[in-house]
Amino acid sequence: MHTLEDAKSAALLDRATLVLNRSWRPVHVTTVRRALCMVFRDAAKVVCTESLATYTFRDWLELPVPPGQTAIRSPSVRMLPPEVILLTNFDRVPSHEAPFTRRNLFLRDDFTCQYCGRRCTSDHLSVDHVLPRSRGGTTSWENCVLACVSCNARKADRTIKEVGLRLLRPPVRPRWTPYLNLRPSQRMPSWAQFASDHKRRHFGQG
Ligand SMILES: [Zn+2]
Repeated sequence: MHTLEDAKSAALLDRATLVLNRSWRPVHVTTVRRALCMVFRDAAKVVCTESLATYTFRDWLELPVPPGQTAIRSPSVRMLPPEVILLTNFDRVPSHEAPFTRRNLFLRDDFTCQYCGRRCTSDHLSVDHVLPRSRGGTTSWENCVLACVSCNARKADRTIKEVGLRLLRPPVRPRWTPYLNLRPSQRMPSWAQFASDHKRRHFGQG
């Protein structure tokens, strides 16, 4: 029989955790579940977002859970879900650039036609090549935008100049992956301190 507490605890494991590299720069977002596995393997330490102290798995486990805080519970364990972890090893140079994927393009353009500004569901939007492929346009962050069905039909295989369309904003490669993959409501307020000024603005819009 699952209690409400058990359900809360299970949901906590799926919550987001920010991953910092050894230079304390955000490189990734993972789940609490995977973050704890990394800390357990000594691949990372938990960061206390108040004191910025770092904890091994054992230390974190021994930390008392303040009253009123929802903890991860098992018969033998009561532990706070980490909000931020710090990688302990040098890894490959972290990529701050979002990979060009359909999903990321929808997130960058916020499900909004970049010509008329209409916000649509994904089945009413398509990926438009600003400079058509037939004219040598590439499939890239800089040449692809979301377009609604009617704008896409209107533009067809022509350039925006030829059709007299204007882009809402120039298409660019997004700077940072972690927040891009999350809805604002999934981001933890404590993460803002690890973002640069540029990124902090994005956090602030949550
Ligand atoms: Zn449109």
